[in-house]
Parts: sequence; C-alpha cells; structure tokens
Amino acid sequence: MKNCFFIEPYVHITAVDQAFSLYNVLNGEIIESKDDELVAMINHMVKTNKNIYFLTNEECIQVNFKNFIKESQVKYIGDLYVDNHLKSPLNYGLSVNINKDINEIKKDKIKLDSSIKNYLAEITVFLNSGNNKFIHIKDGYKQLNYPPSNNSVNFLKPDTVINIIKDSYRLGTSKVNIVLGDLQNYPDIGKIISYLKAIDMKSTLYIHYKDFECNKNQIENAISENFNINLLFNSFFNISEIKEMISNYSDNFIFTFIIQDEKEYIFIENNLLLRYNLRNYEIKPFFNGQNLEFFRNNVFIEKEDILNNKHSHRQLKLNQYYNSNNFGKIYFLNDGKVYTNPNLTTNGDIEHNSLEEILQDAILNPNSGWLKTRNRVNPCRKCIYNCLCPAISNYEYTIGKFNLCNIVN
Ligand code: SF4
Repeated sequence: MKNCFFIEPYVHITAVDQAFSLYNVLNGEIIESKDDELVAMINHMVKTNKNIYFLTNEECIQVNFKNFIKESQVKYIGDLYVDNHLKSPLNYGLSVNINKDINEIKKDKIKLDSSIKNYLAEITVFLNSGNNKFIHIKDGYKQLNYPPSNNSVNFLKPDTVINIIKDSYRLGTSKVNIVLGDLQNYPDIGKIISYLKAIDMKSTLYIHYKDFECNKNQIENAISENFNINLLFNSFFNISEIKEMISNYSDNFIFTFIIQDEKEYIFIENNLLLRYNLRNYEIKPFFNGQNLEFFRNNVFIEKEDILNNKHSHRQLKLNQYYNSNNFGKIYFLNDGKVYTNPNLTTNGDIEHNSLEEILQDAILNPNSGWLKTRNRVNPCRKCIYNCLCPAISNYEYTIGKFNLCNIVN
C-alpha cells in the first residue's frame, strides 16, 4: 500500500523558488507555504506534471505533512489517497503557473496570421497635444487617456485617423477612444465624430473640460448611445465653473476627476459627489513623482484585496501569459508612433507599418505590453501571488516599481 497525496484539478499552483501557493478556484481558499519539504514535494509534482505524490511512511507521520494534508482536506484542495493497487490514482496535468516560452508562441505564427484579427479589442488615438494653458499634469497620457503635454506640433490628420479606425474596424476592434488635446487647433474633429457615428462603433472622446468649454459647439451634440464624451478635470477648479456643466451634461457625459492626493479627493467628494449627486463619474489617481505615499495608502494592493477576490481558472491562465490591462489594446500617439503601452518601446508607426505588422509585433515581441506579466518582472516573478494579483498597470511603469503592494517590499 502506498500513501498518495493528490491535488484537485480545480486548484491553481504557483511555485516559485522557495515557496508555493495552491489556490482553489471554486471556493477561493488558498494554502501557502515556505516549508522546504513541502516546497520540494510541490516542485516535484510541477516538474513531473502530475497531480499525485507518493509519501513515504516517515513523511506521513511528520507534523508538517500531516498539517498540510489536513489543511488541504479542509479547503478541498487535495487529499490523501491510499493506493492499494486495486484502483490507480487519477492523474492529470496540473494547472501550474509557468511562462510560455516566447518561441512557443512564435511556432504558432501561421495560426497567428489567420487569427490576428481576434486580438484587437480597443484602440486609443491621441489626436494632438494639449493646450498648455490648461494642461497641468505632465505626461498624463502615460497613465491615463489624457492629452500629451509635449508641446508637440505633431497631430494626426482627420483622414489619417479615419483610416486608422477603418483598418481597426476591419480587424475586429469594437471600441475606439479618441483623446483630443487642443480643440481650437483641431477644427475637423466633427469629421471624425461623424465617421464614428456612421459606423456605430462604441467610442469615447476624452477632452479637458477647459478645452471643451472654449469650443463646445463643435462636439456637444455628438453624444449618442454609442458615442460618449469624457470630460477631464485635473486640479482644484472653481465650483461655479463646473456647476453649469453638471446641470447641462451630467446625465450624458462622463466626468473624470484626476486626483493627486487625499485633499483633492475630499474636495471633490464634498463639493460635487455629495452635493450634486453626480452619477457618471470616475476618479483616477495620478502619480506626479511626489505622491508615492498617497499611492501607498490608496492604490497599493493588500493581501486581503487579493484573497477576497475570486479568481477563475481562465483568468489565472490568462494572467500567466498575457497582461489583461493591455492585451488587445493599441495606442496611436499624435506623432504617428504606435504602442501596446505608451510607457514601453514603440511597436511600429503608421507611416511604415500596417496594422497587421503592429499586431504581430504586439503578440510576438517579448517587450510588448501585451506580454508584460508579473511572472516576467522582479520582484513579482518570485511571489506566490503573481497570478492572483491584478495585471501590471501604467502606474507600475511610471512609479518605476512593479510591486505596488504592501506585501513584498
Ligand atoms: S505586486 Fe508583485 S510582489 Fe506584490 S503581491 Fe503582487 S505579485 Fe506579489
């Protein structure tokens, strides 16, 4: 008779150097351990891709193994099975957190060519840079859908933008974000809006509220079921100034408040959210280089956040290979360069590359934002929560560290 420990098929394993976690996707229970012998056992199972492990009689009576088996039973993660040779233990591949080698993806290139159109879900097009009178945050576009503040004279012509949208539509995109900087210097915005409304694609126009106010006649009537306007507010503003906007637009527009500290949040909460019962709004933190503490207190992940969230097998598998914040999204900057994430290197430009070529690069280039998973970066690659944690976001890149958590320093 052999004592065989087995792990249930609905358990996701993350094994790093000296620790592991076993996550039950059905009930959200988790076991984590750094015990050398248990780590060796799980590593052996991972290496052999078997959900079973034969324990010696000595191991069976050891406290660490006994406690581990008991916890596995209680959490429906695994159990001890006595193999009496009449029945074979059920064996199947494990759900393990490992990186798919980029070469494996490359081997699928033929398939990739024909299925490339399944990948593109959303595009964001930055038409021009912001009006410096109004833009008070630097490089906002690297964190949010916000106009670049680069003083650039570059802008994307309406016909170019329409061609980008046409191409993306052909490749299956279902969502378009248009980020408009200086409205006064972009008189043909109506042409783009008309095109988007004609093809009935789900679209959102992002514009600074001051810019909108200066020239609102051009766009205020654009709103429709599939066309939203998102007004950006980036610092303390005059309440009387915004009061009229709320009464005119709060039912149809989305109001995005970009905040840099607690004071700004309290100001918005007291003066707008509570007073005017604003419903269509978003609050977006902005990292300005000085407010790490604000992020630590309000944005950083806690262990409870990770464990209180239920994670499906599908989501965990996805997190292993792809960055779900970026996957399927492409950004067109006003200088013509194209990115999977504006914080990373470019994947091409609209003058020299077709959209198909850009997508090929997005899915094959190991430096692409689509493939930036936590198990590829330090220190997350060594953390047992790297599949459970939310995907890397723009904040990690701008802050310059990947562990935006209060778990691993
Ligand atoms: S952010 Fe990285 S280090 Fe922190 S818990 Fe998530 S995976 Fe672990």
